[in-house]
Amino acid sequence: MDEELNPLAMARQQLDEVAVHIHLEADVHERLKHCKRTLIVAVPTSMDDGSLQVFTGYRVHHNLARGPAKGGIRYHPGVSLDEVSALAMWMTWKCALMDIPFGGAKGGVVCNPKEMSLRELELMTRRLTSELMIILGPDKDIPAPDINTNAQTMAWILDTYSMNVGHSVPSVVTGKPVSVGGSRGREEATGRGCVCTIREALGHLGMPIAGARVVVQGFGNVGRATARLAQQAGARVIAVSDEWGGVYQPQGLDIEALVCHNQEAGRVAGFAGTEPLTNAELLELDCEVLIPAALGHQLTGANAGRVRARMVAEGANGPTTPAADRILAERGIFLLPDILANAGGVTVSYFEWVQGLMEYFWTEEEVNERLERLMRQAFADVLRVSLREKVSMRLAAYMLAVSRVAEATRIRGKYP
Ligand code: NAD
Repeated sequence: MDEELNPLAMARQQLDEVAVHIHLEADVHERLKHCKRTLIVAVPTSMDDGSLQVFTGYRVHHNLARGPAKGGIRYHPGVSLDEVSALAMWMTWKCALMDIPFGGAKGGVVCNPKEMSLRELELMTRRLTSELMIILGPDKDIPAPDINTNAQTMAWILDTYSMNVGHSVPSVVTGKPVSVGGSRGREEATGRGCVCTIREALGHLGMPIAGARVVVQGFGNVGRATARLAQQAGARVIAVSDEWGGVYQPQGLDIEALVCHNQEAGRVAGFAGTEPLTNAELLELDCEVLIPAALGHQLTGANAGRVRARMVAEGANGPTTPAADRILAERGIFLLPDILANAGGVTVSYFEWVQGLMEYFWTEEEVNERLERLMRQAFADVLRVSLREKVSMRLAAYMLAVSRVAEATRIRGKYP
């Protein structure tokens, strides 16, 4: 039944569960269930064949009690208002868990970027930006990359916003190229944070990361960096996949060579010296760490019983359904929840925003060192609550995060 849940229902169900554990008062609970504002825009775009296509775009702000709205923009045919709203809510919790001063937002456009030219993507992004301008701004709402958007997309948003206000405003987006005010280390930040929490979690379980068998679903921004950094930390990355399928090599893949192959072939499949496997098979491989780093709803009630990993680290947002969560917990599989495991991206986005506002830029070593410090702190905080309250890591992370947002919401009061 849970498998039928839509993402917003799932996010609300998680909130309801946490509310009981933290004795959240009814009125704050009610306010946190709702997204503060939603902007739905039509994005007319001139296509290369001379036709006009009108795409639908969304930008949702969930709760801004702790600071301006922060969250990615994704381009995908499956984008829906409920999904974007759920992701905005998760961003509120993630920022609070990392104790960074942002509220949660998310955006998306219903489109298939794989079938669009660079020119069409640029035109769509620029029109989207002008439609969203009324709510964007460095002290209002700061987008970032997400599925199928990247540093180039952020550069277009930055340029369009700046052109409209008449001066350069780099801090209106994060995840932009270093040449226009991006932060060193941002590209790899989500992967670095993910590997950092995995190292801490393995340490807690008494297992070294060196030699640990790691499986990664997704070979985009998050999956690629996670695989590369896991390998650098001494882990054996035995399988990775993308939307076209996966590759398996029990002795460990050479990730640098795979990155080159992927650049040329446009997919991981066909990498020399590997066996092909499907995404379904990959999720069920025998390994120490399984990292779903692609889409949501990958581990469900249907396949969680067959997961053979010692630990699941959620690189993606919402990859595990509530039914799968219960099954993994019953089977003693340690779970690093998304709002912790993939929080490295928004954390370095925060660093990027701070550096932009100060106009003073840090070295990559400084960025990485500060990131790892915050990730270790967040992991320790969540583990402490999990052990003290005898609850799962996910529930512990939510208890911490929701308590912080509730406190800010409560102390600011309700206007009018
Ligand atoms: P991306 O577009 O760079 O990469 C997505 C990857 O997933 C690609 O390799 C794609 O081929 C693969 N994929 C798509 N559909 C798939 C399927 N059905 N099965 C297997 N693989 C599939 O996106 P990303 O930025 O790496 O984001 C991945 C996930 O991580 C998303 O859930 C996103 O919300 C989350 N996330 C991203 C960041 C970030 O900094 N980019 C931060 C936090 C969380």
